[in-house]
Amino acid sequence: MTKWVYGFGGGSADGSASDRELLGGKGANLAEMCNLGLPVPPGFTITTEVCTAYYANGRTLPDGLNGQVDAALAAMGEIAGGRFGDPQKLMLVSVRSGSRASMPGMMDTVLNLGLNDETVAALAAASGDERFAYDSYRRFIQMYSDVVLGVDHENFEEILEDAKAEYGFEQDTDLSAAQWQDVIGRYNAKIEQELGAPFPQDAREQLWGAINAVFASWMNPRAITYRRLHDIPESWGTAVNVQAMVFGNMGDSSATGVAFTRNPSTGENALYGEFLVNAQGEDVVAGIRTPQNITEEARVAAGSDKPSLQKLMPDAFKTLTEIAGRLEAHYRDMQDLEFTIERGKLWMLQTRSGKRTAKSALRIAAEMSGEGLITNREAVLRIEPASLDQLLHPTIDPNARRDIIGSGLPASPGAATGEIVFTSDEAEEAKAQNRDVILVRVETSPEDIHGMHAAQGILTTRGGMTSHAAVVARGMGKPCVSGAGGLRVDYRTGTLLAMGVTLRKGDIITIDGGTGQVLKGAVPMLQPELSGDFASIMGWADEARRMKVRANAETPADARMARSFGAEGIGLCRTEHMFFDGERIVAMREMILADTEAGRRSALAKLLPMQRSDFLELFEIMAGLPVTIRLLDPPLHEFLPHSDEEIAEVAAAMDVSAEKLRQRTETLHEFNPMLGHRGCRLAVSYPEIAEMQARAIFEAAAEAGKRTGSPVVPEVMVPLVGLKEELDYVKKRIDDVAETVMKEAGSRFDYLVGTMIELPRAALRAGLIAEAAEFFSFGTNDLTQTTYGISRDDASSFLETYRQKGLIEKDPFVSIDVDGVGELVRMAAEKGRGTRPDIKLGICGEHGGDPASVEFCESVGLDYVSCSPFRVPIARLAAAQAAARAEGI
Ligand code: PEP
Ligand code: MG
Repeated sequence: MTKWVYGFGGGSADGSASDRELLGGKGANLAEMCNLGLPVPPGFTITTEVCTAYYANGRTLPDGLNGQVDAALAAMGEIAGGRFGDPQKLMLVSVRSGSRASMPGMMDTVLNLGLNDETVAALAAASGDERFAYDSYRRFIQMYSDVVLGVDHENFEEILEDAKAEYGFEQDTDLSAAQWQDVIGRYNAKIEQELGAPFPQDAREQLWGAINAVFASWMNPRAITYRRLHDIPESWGTAVNVQAMVFGNMGDSSATGVAFTRNPSTGENALYGEFLVNAQGEDVVAGIRTPQNITEEARVAAGSDKPSLQKLMPDAFKTLTEIAGRLEAHYRDMQDLEFTIERGKLWMLQTRSGKRTAKSALRIAAEMSGEGLITNREAVLRIEPASLDQLLHPTIDPNARRDIIGSGLPASPGAATGEIVFTSDEAEEAKAQNRDVILVRVETSPEDIHGMHAAQGILTTRGGMTSHAAVVARGMGKPCVSGAGGLRVDYRTGTLLAMGVTLRKGDIITIDGGTGQVLKGAVPMLQPELSGDFASIMGWADEARRMKVRANAETPADARMARSFGAEGIGLCRTEHMFFDGERIVAMREMILADTEAGRRSALAKLLPMQRSDFLELFEIMAGLPVTIRLLDPPLHEFLPHSDEEIAEVAAAMDVSAEKLRQRTETLHEFNPMLGHRGCRLAVSYPEIAEMQARAIFEAAAEAGKRTGSPVVPEVMVPLVGLKEELDYVKKRIDDVAETVMKEAGSRFDYLVGTMIELPRAALRAGLIAEAAEFFSFGTNDLTQTTYGISRDDASSFLETYRQKGLIEKDPFVSIDVDGVGELVRMAAEKGRGTRPDIKLGICGEHGGDPASVEFCESVGLDYVSCSPFRVPIARLAAAQAAARAEGI
């Protein structure tokens, strides 16, 4: 019979940390902590396989589970000294989800389960604290009704707010036992009214209700969105953890909190966290009361007048510090801990690898390597490549004038400017229109995930460093200021009141997630410094990696930035982008309008010096590094005006008739320009264009070689080749120009001619094409488009539906479709090498900067990846990780 239930407690466990797939992260780590002999309340984990079975069987739990749960309840009762459902030997439990990957706040939790009208009195008697017992009971009714019975929590919040107003209280902790009993009575009446049935009194009925609800919550919309954003497969499922309750709300010697073994924002090697006295876990996360600091040092730094845990409960603090040290050394990573102190005794409720900002991840990895806890190679593997993006975010120029209108906690680093919006839907709408927004909320909840994702930054007026907004923003790498208590949000009127100033939806603000400041208007920003820990880790990454990383760049500014980010050359210079500036577009249009080759050549002669100086600058910036320049690719009509107004204006400026211009535009019109007269097809029709570009490249290379003293070996790239004959035709023109330029210069130089592989036919015929091509660069944007037969410009409108319906997991234009497009790449690489063993192979589609695609490129053995300058560090790290994994490290 399958083992569905794994027990833990009393210094041992059925499972361990290596059972993450089966027990989920929380369950596996609870087991591990028990095995380490740490103080963990006993309990058991129902496996993720039960979740799979639950969904496979139309949301029903498998046979045999019941008996295993009963046995596990009995075993945990033995350890805890209680019996579930028995008022004489009271044992209450918590029921929590726990999947393989942590999904904070996405699924459901129920605490204090097992309470009813009878056991609450037993709890009061056993604890000697009636107020505590009824407070626990009302919490349970609230949570259970919301999570399991579907009675919205707002119903209860309203009742509680009304009651507090009647009693004249501000805080929940002010209510007496009798007053909580009164509130519970009102809750029960509400439940009867909503459901037509009373709140369930039977402990087992409560337990199975909660277990079912946790499994069902795997498919709630928040969890689905979270999985999509974090690439977590639906098939993983969640485990359910049932654990004996310990109480942080048993008076002033009790508390609950969260702690990180190192600072998750800065990476500093110091215990960091928050706690609340006389509270249960959800109070810390909900941000209703402002939490206290764990260490004295943090309290002083925060300027808080509330005592730290270190001062208030020194014994528990000492134990927590020791356990934190042990867990970090054991897991060899920064840990995120949850704990509860029940009447002075510390209990551990969770440990997991802590989420952290990119900056702190770098510091932690670099310092742990320095401490000898991990190797340099492991340090490289510890950094999520995509997270480096956070470091590449701008920060506010220190010399900028700051018009400060409020401040809160520096919850997630980086600065962001945008229009104020007050709802997540508004944020999403604005994003669709390419508008930058700051999502301003009193506090966020898991329902806001899509809005937080769409916004440039997040500002909340309530909640601490571990509030939902703070945790999620850090995970997403978005700047966030939380708990800006001096600001007032009024959703009804759509206003934000800040130091006497009323701001409205659409007004521009800037938030500084590094200091917690909120500023009026837009503020000048600075680009980040890429030194210190970043440089160390990138240095180790460069030692580990095999593939080179180049950049896609055509402007000098981009090329310089790419070099500063560590690019090792240019993998794609899209020359068409150079034809739009000032006089160039005029010469370009003149060329397109010319009726004869002679006319075209005379216009091209005007473009030649401009192209030459562009290339010269690129060669100089990239001195000593390879530069791949692609011949003109887009269809010519892209350079012509289209509306009547534009046509009239351009015709007047060019001194041609509007009629002629219109006729030429119409002639060039194509039904599907992406599959039309573009790429090498232009060079076949108008070889003089390719000749001019080749001349500009070679003259610039010769000149740059002289100036920099090191020979430049330009790589001339022919786009959209499908037939070897196309490449032969164009290559002949390029070679002839090279010969002429060498004769003119009186010296010889090296160059390469290669092709993009961006059509399925080119991939199929790569063996033959390699006879002419000295390199292949995989243009996976076009290759994805042509393999799928999906237009890259129109894909997003329906691919999202595919993803939501589970037909595809990832957008193939973002992350390479390994099975289809990837297969073509693999095949072409093999065929190319078959013909020409030393053929240079690279990729220059968007995928070159996507970590999963970079891993694929490593597996195919490409020589380099090329991506946009900002993604160069990401690609360097991803390439290093791919190489390390390929070596089995
Ligand atoms: C490609 O098709 O992948 C490519 C890099 O070229 P472009 O995006 O310019 O079509
Ligand atoms: Mg292309």
